[in-house]
Amino acid sequence: MAIIKTTDKDWLDFQSAVKELKEYFLSLSARKGRALTYNVLTYGCQLNESDSEKLSGMLSAMGLIPSSGGELDDADVILFNTCSIRENADRHLFGNLGVFKTLKKKDPDVIIAVCGCMMKVPENVAKIKKSYPYVDLVFDPQQLHRLPLLLRDSIRSKKQLVNIAADDYIAEDSFFPIDRKRKFRALVPIMYGCNNFCTYCIVPYARGRERSRDFGEIVRELEDLASKGYKEVMLLGQNVNSYKGEDGKTFADILRAASDFEEFSRVRFMSSHPKDISDEVIDIMATRPNVEKHLHLAMQSGSDRILKAMNRPYTISRFLEIADTFRSRVEGGSLTTDIIVGFPGETEEDFQQTLRAVEKAKFDAAFTFQYSARPGTKAAAFEDQIPADIVTDRFGRLTEYTNRYAEESNSRLAGKTMEVLIEGISKAGDMTFSGRTITNHLVNFTIPEELGIDPGPDNLEGRLCEVRIDRARPYSVDGVLVSLRGA
Ligand code: SF4
Repeated sequence: MAIIKTTDKDWLDFQSAVKELKEYFLSLSARKGRALTYNVLTYGCQLNESDSEKLSGMLSAMGLIPSSGGELDDADVILFNTCSIRENADRHLFGNLGVFKTLKKKDPDVIIAVCGCMMKVPENVAKIKKSYPYVDLVFDPQQLHRLPLLLRDSIRSKKQLVNIAADDYIAEDSFFPIDRKRKFRALVPIMYGCNNFCTYCIVPYARGRERSRDFGEIVRELEDLASKGYKEVMLLGQNVNSYKGEDGKTFADILRAASDFEEFSRVRFMSSHPKDISDEVIDIMATRPNVEKHLHLAMQSGSDRILKAMNRPYTISRFLEIADTFRSRVEGGSLTTDIIVGFPGETEEDFQQTLRAVEKAKFDAAFTFQYSARPGTKAAAFEDQIPADIVTDRFGRLTEYTNRYAEESNSRLAGKTMEVLIEGISKAGDMTFSGRTITNHLVNFTIPEELGIDPGPDNLEGRLCEVRIDRARPYSVDGVLVSLRGA
């Protein structure tokens, strides 16, 4: 398995395929007497969201327009960008693929394609070949940059095309037309893949070996984003702290370079691994005003025995040491985590150690998961799988703990006036807006009429404001806008 950087020839092939498809879709649109649309269905993490912005950008470059946005919208090109982390991800894909069977029967010109991490699991590809013959194209996340070529070949062949790469590619963002979903926030992958092989995780098999983007390319992209008025950048990677750029550039160098752009109100990053997080990165978080004061550090278990079985090379005391360093250096910093319960072999004592660790770390929020065996992972073959009722019981007890500390964290904001980056209309509806503090606390707030502020999303998204917090909830806080900063 090699790591292959895209070449100028790849770029020329890309261009000619886009040109050919543009002509094809133009004549199809003329024949149908309407504009042609695409629908990219995205499952999973922010790296998948970022990939989908590139998939949408390429389909737009072929002359297609996005469908009206409903998940199961009919469209002329329907592309599933899949996730393989959670059990229900499979059910979701195959359930939704079934929905589009009638559409394909009604209009054979419709193109259905599937990509993303699930396509790196051979069982899933075999299932599509056997049971979903109306799927036109199947490819993997490593070949995102080859979508135009693969689409062209599947249209020419009029047969189902399955192309799963053995090698790991790296295509710089400058290779792609990108349709960014939010006009104030930009997702910026800095590296792909993972070399950690946690025994419960499919990512190293789905996303391949770690490969870092070119430091210079990343800085050019950040410069372009700053000049276009983006206010928040999210630096992405399965493990951003193991970034290795040319000339020995590290993640700390990326973080500094990003925070040097004063245009950015917020520089955020995801995900960090306890084995690689450095004091240098924590110091940058403490000293650079526009770098988030929030660290998401996956603990997964509080038992050293289980961490070993998960192939996570740190001890719980080392993890808590990092948590203390972060809390002592980053004033008011928030620490969040991921925890899995019910990992094979987990005893009640192991679970108690997880609860003890949560008590010590007092996480500001925790994403808690019930272990599910994923095909293709080492742990799926471990003998001592835990019965579902025990897993559910532990999950319930764990979330009681994590919810208590999350609510305590939110309660500490009550009565304070916090700086909030506005994200838009809140899901809570009723004329409330939402945004996040620099510590990543979710704030839902109202705008008093007497302030005479135009509540239009175009006016507010991406702007900084001050909000007086007057109520804490388990996963968010409520407040009232006090003042709005200049655009
Ligand atoms: S660090 Fe572990 S859990 Fe995270 S992506 Fe890599 S293998 Fe998966």
